Amino acid sequence: MTAVQSSAEDRGGELARRPRRRAFAMRPSLLAVYVPVVVALHLALTVAGLLSTVPRPNDLLTFAALLACGAVCIEASRRLGMPAGVARDMLSAWWLPVALLLPPVFALLIPIPIQLLLQFRVRRTLLYRRVLVMATHGLAGACASGVFHLAVPAPLAGRPLWVIGGLPELLVAVGCAVLFTVLNTVLVAIAAHAANPEGRWRDVLWNRESLLLDVVELCVGVTVAILSTLSLALLLLALPPVVLLQRSLMHQQLQAAARTDAKTGLLNAAAWQREADTELARTQRTHDPLALLLIDIDHFKRVNDTHGHLVGDQVLVGVANTLCGQLRDYDVVGRFGGEEFVVLLPGADTVEACRVAERLRGRVRRLAVPAEEGTVGVTISVGVALFRMHGQDLIELLAAADLALYRAKQSGRDRVCLPAVEGPKASGA
Ligand code: GH3
Ligand code: MG
Ligand code: MG
Repeated sequence: MTAVQSSAEDRGGELARRPRRRAFAMRPSLLAVYVPVVVALHLALTVAGLLSTVPRPNDLLTFAALLACGAVCIEASRRLGMPAGVARDMLSAWWLPVALLLPPVFALLIPIPIQLLLQFRVRRTLLYRRVLVMATHGLAGACASGVFHLAVPAPLAGRPLWVIGGLPELLVAVGCAVLFTVLNTVLVAIAAHAANPEGRWRDVLWNRESLLLDVVELCVGVTVAILSTLSLALLLLALPPVVLLQRSLMHQQLQAAARTDAKTGLLNAAAWQREADTELARTQRTHDPLALLLIDIDHFKRVNDTHGHLVGDQVLVGVANTLCGQLRDYDVVGRFGGEEFVVLLPGADTVEACRVAERLRGRVRRLAVPAEEGTVGVTISVGVALFRMHGQDLIELLAAADLALYRAKQSGRDRVCLPAVEGPKASGA
């Protein structure tokens, strides 16, 4: 979900308010169709559910108790702050039981107050993103709920289902929780891909860390569901550990956010330097080659002057995504300054480094960032420096790459250069 990025949320004052209204319109057209369709489907199903469901007092009580737990959880972790981008939380511990135990309309309803609380009490984010998350959670929850109720009718019929029903119901509940997670991930991944077609599906659909979190959420959610069927008072026992889990998850994400450039999602300069130092030390031991690329967007000031800072920010995000999409997992990519990026290529010799730099230059050239007056394209200049050949440590390497970048700018921009004339020849547009 992190790929549904927007830089507008981190900007302050008038600049933030003005582009916020335009931000959605500037997204790729697929997103402009997808979001309204998903939201309309959620709304239509919610209205239909409300008209066709007669809730039992027991259902309303369970819904209120689980919603209250969710609200307590949000308030208890509020002071830690929510990192930029979409943060993971433990709130499905409360809405998974809603999906499993109550009629599907409650699963459609619960994301609405939860997301409103997050928006107004924790972190204001772009409205379309909030509404989209509301809708995907609602739709995924309602599907899981529908399937569960088909397989296990009337779970709140007044007896402790889990104790009597045993393993089969438990397996169905776990299966429905998995269904919820998979559906939600797919619905969000489609939006993320529409927002950033350059991004890799694998990055938004799957990574080991988020899979582990999904499993934890699933276990906690199903356990809370079991407790609620025994007695709603048992929710008081579940609340403190879930709050603790939520807080430690937030803390972990804050730590990760401290390493990340909020605008592009790349490593920030300090974190990049730490990782690059580690990589350099390893290369010194193994005697492998290593290259450094310093990348600067050409005439970026003109983009800001012509199209505004918000479009400028979208260009930065687009270039960052393009770089990430073209590099290997173990290449170290960071945002060094305003419109300057730095890449460490472990194992790359001169030929390989220039080949990669050329590929990046070519891909960035093809980038078309939507703006009000059509699309915006940019080019980049790249300075390449080789470990041992141009520098013996990171500082020397950076200085050499900076020199190479200066040469690229001086020779007309939109080209790849080495620090000196000797070696493989510099290439250009
Ligand atoms: P050159 O080809 O020589 O690199 O020209 P340039 O215009 O790219 O370079 P210059 O250093 O003159 O301008 C860089 C601009 O980048 C100026 C600054 O306002 C803008 N900038 C820096 N950080 C950000 C940012 O986070 N967002 C936006 N939108 N603009 C930024
Ligand atoms: Mg520049
Ligand atoms: Mg610059």
